Parts: sequence; structure tokens; C-alpha cells
Amino acid sequence: MDLGTVVCGLIGHSSIVNIDFGRISCARCGVVLADGLTQAINPEWEKTLVYRKCPHGPDCKKCDANRKQLTWKDRLLTKAG
Ligand SMILES: [Zn+2]
Ligand SMILES: [Zn+2]
Repeated sequence: MDLGTVVCGLIGHSSIVNIDFGRISCARCGVVLADGLTQAINPEWEKTLVYRKCPHGPDCKKCDANRKQLTWKDRLLTKAG
């Protein structure tokens, strides 16, 4: 078990995520949190996410706004944004 997995177990997954072909995974531990290809993604949850390499591009307004809401819990052991 790596440190990221331990931290996520203690404080929950980061709001910073990776997206890859519709699959959203935690930027800290790498676990797939939602797979847009096989399941509906909760829009309320999705609204709070910050994508690394956002598919909307580097100046995505939504990610920018969400990045301001991040806390240490999101940033710990993730490369910011
Ligand atoms: Zn995680
Ligand atoms: Zn974005």
C-alpha cells in the first residue's frame, strides 16, 4: 500500500483528479472514482472536481474556480491542480 492510498483512507480522496477516456481517478491514489463510460457521474460531485490536464484546456474556467476551493486535504501528495 503506498502513502497516497493510506492518506486517502484517512481523509478521503482528493478533488484533484485525472480523466482518461471518461474515467475519473483520484490524483493521489489513482483509484478510479467514476467511469463515465459505464455509469452516470453524479453531477453535483463532478462540479467540484479539478482536472489535471483538463479536457477543456489549460484555461478551463470551471477548474480554475474549483481550484480556489481546494484545501490541504486535496493538495496533500498531489501535484497541485
Ligand atoms: Zn484517492
Ligand atoms: Zn476543467
